[in-house]
Parts: sequence; structure tokens; C-alpha cells
Amino acid sequence: HEVAAPDPVVAPPARTVEPESTIGEFAEVKALADRLTMGEAIGVSNPYFLINDGVTRDTSVIGGETVINFSSYNYIGMSGHPVVVAAVQDAVARYGSSVSASRLLSGDKPVHRELEEALSVLLGTEDAITLVGGHSTNVTVIGHLVGEDDLVVHDALAHDSILQGCKLSGATRRPFPHNDIAALDAMLTELRSRYRRVLILIEGVYSQDGDIPDLPSFVAIKKKHRAMLMIDEAHSIGVLGATGGGIGEHFAIDRSDVELWSGTLSKALAGCGGYVCGSAELVRFLKYTTPGFVYSVGMTPMNAAASLAAIRQLREEPEVLTVLRQNSQLFLRLAKEAGIDTGDTLDTPVIPCIVGDSLKTLRLSNRLLERGINVNPILYPAVPEDLARLRFFVTSCHTEEQITYTVATLTRELAAL
Ligand code: PMP
Repeated sequence: HEVAAPDPVVAPPARTVEPESTIGEFAEVKALADRLTMGEAIGVSNPYFLINDGVTRDTSVIGGETVINFSSYNYIGMSGHPVVVAAVQDAVARYGSSVSASRLLSGDKPVHRELEEALSVLLGTEDAITLVGGHSTNVTVIGHLVGEDDLVVHDALAHDSILQGCKLSGATRRPFPHNDIAALDAMLTELRSRYRRVLILIEGVYSQDGDIPDLPSFVAIKKKHRAMLMIDEAHSIGVLGATGGGIGEHFAIDRSDVELWSGTLSKALAGCGGYVCGSAELVRFLKYTTPGFVYSVGMTPMNAAASLAAIRQLREEPEVLTVLRQNSQLFLRLAKEAGIDTGDTLDTPVIPCIVGDSLKTLRLSNRLLERGINVNPILYPAVPEDLARLRFFVTSCHTEEQITYTVATLTRELAAL
């Protein structure tokens, strides 16, 4: 066990600050309370923390009503799939509900290794490591691999988990404009020589806009500047590629050209946890040294079994990917025909409907829920005010009828705002 060195004594800030000794005094706590009461005052109901009962697939049950659901990432219907449910039941009977230790010490079960092997095969890499959370995987892995002599450059729309990992690392952090290869190239031309390691961070499918990066160009840039590339495949694993292998399969690139393929098990893969796929050398290093793995409990056997069963089921039933694509294309085509602003989304199940005003977006989500459609509003400050939107996650479970009804209702309610 490493003993952490004490932090250096930090000089108190030069400006005078008012002491705050209770949570209620924090400005940000007051600001949140004001925001929540303002919503009530203007008659919009809070769209957050709605209790969803039952299995969330094409529908969910909110307040006793079955509604069409577009607000979760069960992209290929594996959560709630009978084969996955049976695998989970078997795992809990065999291994109990917790491994009760770090895997490094005595929490490693056969199901962890089987899942990591299955992930390596799906991604086409030498090995894989799985950790207990998708968000925390990015934080702990990025935070661990780079440090103060290094540079991290990330897409401006990168997920919070990537930003938090960069901050934790202490590396110099620079965002580049979304998907802008030329800007990244210019940035690295200027900065590369000043740093030891350079890590480029992008995503497989961007979760607010549903667009994808031109991966071959990113690979060329990283080679040109002797940088490393990490791709967060949270929304592309089990979604893109002929077998659901993600964006690497989609572009048929050599998987060893990307150092770190990270992602989450919580979306298409029906579990809860994160992974990093890559070389055997990388995975061994991460398994022995990453704080969020070494000093944390191993993934529950049920979660590992769920994602393992989902990967196996996807192998048995690759047609779900075709259905997912058909559903996404149908939604997008109907939305475009209705004149809805769907931004830059491409052939992915993440489809924004840009409203351009947070209050109107909130009202629209309220009205749609009243008409039996559950979809998340994405408001300022999560996106700029003029890009406030509803964000639809299409799944392979949705029917043509559900999609047609949704786009027609959306079009009508949008016009009536
Ligand atoms: N990365 C991206 C791009 C995500 O969208 C998310 C979750 N929405 C995560 C990481 C975190 O994954 P998890 O929710 O499984 O912790």
C-alpha cells in the first residue's frame, strides 16, 4: 500500500473570501435551489429523476403509465433480454452478489476473464480490462497514464468523464474544435515538441449530436505527431460495425493503431461498468497500477455476466444491428421530412431535435410525456442556449408505429410551442 505524501502547504488566497461553513451557504447550492423553484413557478414540471418502473426498452412505466421511451441507451435491447437475465441469475447463484475484494487481491472470478476475452475479440485487440463504472474508467485511466509533463488534447464536445480524467492527470489540457482535424494538426504542430506524452481523446459516437469522427484521419494525425489516441466507444460499441465491434470495425482500421479503446458496458452491453481494450502490455500495466482498479472492488459477477451474455447474444443475433440501423434511419428520415433540425447526426441511433431555447425544450418534453413519449431535454449549460434540444435514443426494440407516432407528435407539438 503506497503511503500518499502530504500535500505541500498552500499559501492562503490573497483576496479576502467570506468563510462558508454549511452546504446551504454555497452559492452553487443556492443557484440549484433557485433553478428548481423557478421551473415550478413557470409551470414546467421537473423532467429529472422520473421513476421508471419495469425494464426500460422501447417502453418504460412512469407514474403507472406505459410510455414510449427514447431516453435510455438500451440500444440493442440486451437489458431485459431473457438470455441476459438468465445469465445474471446464474452468476448470482454461483458467485454471490459481490466479489468483496479488489480483483488484484482475491476478487477475480472466471466471469471477469471471460468478459475481458469476449471484449478483446469484439474489439479486435490483444486484451481488455474491465472496471466498475464507465465514467470512472475514463477518469482513473486518463488520470493515471499522463501527468504534468504531458499534453492532452480532446474534442471540444468530449464527455465529462474525459474532462475529469484530464483534470485529474495534471497534464496541460487543450480542446480542439469538434471533429476538426486541421485544427488538431495545427495545435500539435505548435505544441508537440514541448511535451513528453501527447494523448488525443475522441469519441466513437458523440452523445449529444450523434455524429462520428473521421477515425482514419485521426490515426494519420496521431502518427504524424507521435501522439497516442484514446477513443471512448460508449455509444459506438454494440452499435457501429457489421458485428457491433464499434467505430474501428466501421472504418476497418488496424486496431493496434489506437492505443486505448475505452467504453462503457452500461449501454448496448446491458451491464454497468467500463472497459479499456488495447495491447497486452497496456492492459497488464493498467491491471497492476490503475488506482480505480487496484484500490476498488471488482465488478459484480452479475454485471460481468450480463455484458458477457449480451456480447454472446449479439454474436448469435447480429440482425439486431440491422434493425437498429433501420429504426435510426426511419426516425431521421421522418424527422428531416418534417423539417425538424436534427443537427449533424449521421447513421447513428442518437438523434437530436434542436429547439434552440431551454424553456421551450423543457415545455416540449413535458408535452410529449403527456402524450406518452419519454425523451430527455438537454438544456443550457449542458449545450449552448441556441442548441437546446431534445435527444432521442432509438433502439432496435422500437416499432415502426412507435417511431411514426413519435415524429408526428413531435412535429405537431413543436409547431404549437
Ligand atoms: N462516456 C460517454 C461518452 C458517455 O456518454 C457516458 C455516459 N453517458 C460515459 C462515458 C459514462 O458511462 P457510464 O454511464 O456507464 O458510467
